[in-house]
Amino acid sequence: MAERHKLYSFDYSTGKIGFLGRICPKCGKVMATHHDRFNCGYCGYTIFVKKR
Ligand SMILES: [Zn+2]
Repeated sequence: MAERHKLYSFDYSTGKIGFLGRICPKCGKVMATHHDRFNCGYCGYTIFVKKR
């Protein structure tokens, strides 16, 4: 499971994302990208991106 995170260079500790897309950690689908968050249209999972 942890291997997938490396592919997208997503660091949960800093919220930094190194890839335009995002894979849902719950269902594995490609998530929709918004200006401040990622949203999964399949299961509704949302990841908020905190900007500094
Ligand atoms: Zn999902």
